[in-house]
Amino acid sequence: MVNGAGDESRRERHVIDAVDKGVFIGGRWRESGDGRTFGVADPSTGEELCRVADASPADGMAALAAADAAQEAWAAYPPRERGEILRRGYELLMARQDDLALLMTLEMGKPLPEAKGEIAYAAEFLRWFSEEAVRIDGGYAVPPAGTGRFLVTRRPVGPCLLITPWNFPMAMGTRKIGPAVAAGCTMVVKPAPQTPLSMLALAGILREAGLPEGVLSVLPTSRAGEVCEPLMRDGRIRKLSFTGSTVVGKLLLEQSAEQVLRVSLELGGNAPFLVFEDADLDAAVDGAMLAKMRNIGEACTAANRFYAHESIAEEFAARLSKRMEALTVGRGTDEGVQVGPLIDDAARDKVQSLVEDAVGRGAKVATGGAPVDGPGFFYRPTVLANVPPGVAMAETEIFGPVAPIGTFASDDEALRLANDTPYGLVSYLYTQDLTRALKVSEALDTGMVGLNTGLVSNPAAPFGGVKHSGLGREGGTVGIDEFLETKYVAIGGI
Ligand code: NAP
Repeated sequence: MVNGAGDESRRERHVIDAVDKGVFIGGRWRESGDGRTFGVADPSTGEELCRVADASPADGMAALAAADAAQEAWAAYPPRERGEILRRGYELLMARQDDLALLMTLEMGKPLPEAKGEIAYAAEFLRWFSEEAVRIDGGYAVPPAGTGRFLVTRRPVGPCLLITPWNFPMAMGTRKIGPAVAAGCTMVVKPAPQTPLSMLALAGILREAGLPEGVLSVLPTSRAGEVCEPLMRDGRIRKLSFTGSTVVGKLLLEQSAEQVLRVSLELGGNAPFLVFEDADLDAAVDGAMLAKMRNIGEACTAANRFYAHESIAEEFAARLSKRMEALTVGRGTDEGVQVGPLIDDAARDKVQSLVEDAVGRGAKVATGGAPVDGPGFFYRPTVLANVPPGVAMAETEIFGPVAPIGTFASDDEALRLANDTPYGLVSYLYTQDLTRALKVSEALDTGMVGLNTGLVSNPAAPFGGVKHSGLGREGGTVGIDEFLETKYVAIGGI
């Protein structure tokens, strides 16, 4: 046992030591321009795992210069070769899936099987866009009047700034890097400071896969605003692609106005999960577990508000509580753990205050309802029943393992409750009635709908939201469009 534990901690040290912890600019690793570093912590203990270079504003400008210098040649690179680089990146990620998953679990906390799942999901974006790189089409057409011709081509938008969150440290990167590479854009990536190691590892892998110098730079930094704002105000960056909170997304949208950047925003959600009286309750509970507990509840797609028809709400709450109670909470590296820690103490305190607010307004704790004592930022899987309208968690992303259940009496009421939010990322519904399924799916005011499924994310599908959940789509056949401009040549004399 003791030897086993020693082997495990040596392996953890090995995967951390294997990552270059510098700023990655122009194909090389460097120290931060002003020599600063910041710490990366293990959320299951709160202890520092390692330190990484803390990119300075000058590093940001150096990365931008590298992206700008590489753009012209990269745009002219044969699409097949851009695709082959992505394909090799996919293969390298999959070959190193176990080590990369361990690295991710250490810095982010999610259980190892989920981290492995994220590596595969992240790799799939590279594979998908390796295939899209050679399908960038154009058009040649006869105008309605019959004279002249239209020639339509597509070209890369130019250097991009890609900003990613901590909750899916690798997949939110490849969902942007994949299409940017496929389209022929160069890029500067700023990962979240809680989880820079996965992105730094990815940079090394893409370099190994043959990505030319300057196409990708990675800036781990504790000074996001100081580093990114000058880039967005510099005319050389042509696009911002951001995944993160709505509040930061709005700020960046304002900053993007000065240079009229192309903007893609994948922002926060507040997903409703509707269970109708004719639903297959076993399937609905399975879907609820997935939609709520994937990523410890720290997902933009997480079911945030459950509404069950009043005739089955009690049964649904009882079955969901039983499943939630049976989950094993612990350090994500430990065998059998299903629920890891939240990212930090602020996240755990926020969850606790949302639960206290709901209970104070009459919600009943069916299971959980409190943090776990001891080190790390663990919270008990929680179900709240009889949750009245107007609780704070109905308006805020919980971002934790808490399922609040309210009720509805009619389809109209279910829809009214579901759409009563400025967010519009995803909704879920469970029903076996085809007409109801289609009517409700059409009326739900979100970019995505999970119909009798608790998982919508798929690299081959268009992911994104409406209203305060964002602009644009990632993945699918439209994902590459966000990184392409359309150019039209009017041809005369023919
Ligand atoms: P966040 O606080 O908005 O941060 C996201 C990223 O933006 C981080 O890298 C952050 O770095 C950076 N950032 C913050 N202020 C910035 C500024 N002024 N200039 C440039 N960069 C800045 O969000 P988070 O807490 O990391 O992530 C959770 C949020 O992301 C949730 O709301 C979740 O719903 C959303 N999300 C959405 C999707 C989607 O596809 N729709 C997917 C995943 C997550 P610093 O931390 O250093 O400030």
